[in-house]
Amino acid sequence: AVRVNGLTRSFGDRQVLRNVDLTLARGEFTALLGRSGSGKSTLLRAVAGLDHTTVGTGEILVPRRVSLVFQDSRLLPWLRILDNVVLGLPGDDAKERGRAALDEVSLGGRASAWPHELSGGEQQRAALARSLVSEPELLLADEPFGSLDALTRIRMHRLLRRLYERHRPAVLLVTHDVDEAVTLADRVLVLDDGDFVLDLRIDLPTERDPGDPLFQRHRTTL
Ligand code: ATP
Ligand code: MG
Repeated sequence: AVRVNGLTRSFGDRQVLRNVDLTLARGEFTALLGRSGSGKSTLLRAVAGLDHTTVGTGEILVPRRVSLVFQDSRLLPWLRILDNVVLGLPGDDAKERGRAALDEVSLGGRASAWPHELSGGEQQRAALARSLVSEPELLLADEPFGSLDALTRIRMHRLLRRLYERHRPAVLLVTHDVDEAVTLADRVLVLDDGDFVLDLRIDLPTERDPGDPLFQRHRTTL
């Protein structure tokens, strides 16, 4: 679904990405790890097409329906929650789909609230609803759960995984949390010194069964 070849990006004389090749298959959930400053966000912005100064010497093939979730969820403060969720969505049933998405993230009752009336975690849930209601082919998420408490974070993990299973877009999730990476992803990439130093496939059943030992701990918390 996504193919980026020969991606190079410098800031001044510092080369952050060196000739990076990345292919993400549709339906593949990939976590991206790497030290602070290693270029993860730079890579995501390039893949999203937000950074036109990044040089791809080769091919950049990215699907049209791309969705982004950032750590600070960037809801538009002048739009109510539901309007944020359905912003840019085509179709007469957009609001209906938006409401269903809000229900799914347990924010059904907050559709007409303003973003500032929601807690940080609620705003992130709304952002996740917004990103998934468009049924993206590619979901790019840059530390979307960074500032959440442990319990809300685990709820978000389950939610993301559940929503992912439904449409199976290609997912690229940036995280600093190794546990989060191996729990959620089928593939883990580590970026260091301008390129990937590790590309690991995690051999777990794709169906995350609640009886799965990996999920036992989560289940007891919830
Ligand atoms: P973190 O985990 O802290 O979010 P990251 O891996 O996402 O880090 P990037 O934000 O991609 O790192 O930044 C990679 C490097 O590029 C850093 O050294 C950063 O200082 C530099 N950099 C990023 N954006 C710019 C910019 N607009 N101008 C100058 N340097 C930049
Ligand atoms: Mg970053």
